[in-house]
Amino acid sequence: MIHDFTYLKPSSLKEALTMLEEHKDDCKVICGGQSLLIIMRQGLLVTDYLIDIKHIKELDYIQFDAKAGLKIGATTTHHTIETSDVIKKNYPVLVAMENKLASIQVRNWGTIGGNLAHGDPSGDPASVLIALKANIKVGNAKGGRTLTLEDFCVDFFETALEEGEIVLEVQVPTPEAKTGATYQKFNLLESDQGMVAAAAAVTLNGGGKCKDVRVVLGNAGPKPVRIKRVEELLRGKGYDEKLFAEAGKIASEDCEPVTDIHASEEHRRHLLGVLTKRMLKQAWEQAKG
Ligand SMILES: Cc1cc2nc3c(=O)[nH]c(=O)nc-3n(C[C@H](O)[C@H](O)[C@H](O)COP(=O)(O)OP(=O)(O)OC[C@H]3O[C@@H](n4cnc5c(N)ncnc54)[C@H](O)[C@@H]3O)c2cc1C
Repeated sequence: MIHDFTYLKPSSLKEALTMLEEHKDDCKVICGGQSLLIIMRQGLLVTDYLIDIKHIKELDYIQFDAKAGLKIGATTTHHTIETSDVIKKNYPVLVAMENKLASIQVRNWGTIGGNLAHGDPSGDPASVLIALKANIKVGNAKGGRTLTLEDFCVDFFETALEEGEIVLEVQVPTPEAKTGATYQKFNLLESDQGMVAAAAAVTLNGGGKCKDVRVVLGNAGPKPVRIKRVEELLRGKGYDEKLFAEAGKIASEDCEPVTDIHASEEHRRHLLGVLTKRMLKQAWEQAKG
């Protein structure tokens, strides 16, 4: 049962931030409600004020500039991202990820800001965006600040958002030349959250060696898990099947998955090793191409 609350519908960002400041001790932001309403219905969250930011047009945009990179406003829906030509052209991995996120109904209403602010370690966008070195802009009535998405994800359903702050924008730098990026989740039901997931981004130098690499695992710990030992292992090296096998082994060791009704910890570690190896190989091939 959902407890009573006062519903507030600001018509501008300024008004929303003022309302948040006024009620910051006992309010919650709602955007698409795809995650929030579930926990409210379960009685896990009770609030006096619900501030609905879904219709704030100032936060609904996709901008791209080769120098500045990609900027996605917080209230942009998953469907808008998956059908954006500019994202398709410059960040195909984001489109591929969004295509497999939930059902079309959820993608039509759920937003990128809501997804990231929810802090669910099985959420799809965070791992891919961290692999792409994304930043996130947050703000309150007093101003804004930008932090890496990696630092924004703090713990299981916990982010670096402070009282009165909301997510404003996701920022993704333009990938360097010769960069490939891939993402795959393993799930039993199409359109469901992944049992585990892996994202990889590989940049090659002129000689075909690894210049830079990121490997980020989803649902492999309380927040997206960057496998830095793999990144160190691959930097400066050439394409080598043995290295990818070693990378998979390290990834399965360096994550912290749990056992739950969907899978055991051991099974998750195995899957994460397989996906890491596969994503790295595919990202490398893409970077060469
Ligand atoms: C059936 C189903 C299947 C799903 N499958 C997937 C899946 O496969 N992969 C996946 O990643 N997700 C999945 N989800 C989750 C869903 O896609 C996301 O949670 C959704 O994008 C959240 O966006 P929202 O706008 O609906 O957020 P809301 O539900 O409105 O809010 C979620 C949380 O974020 C906060 N919030 C919202 N916007 C902001 C903001 N701008 N600033 C600060 N805080 C904010 C709210 O206060 C709340 O705590 C699924 C959900 C459902 C119902």
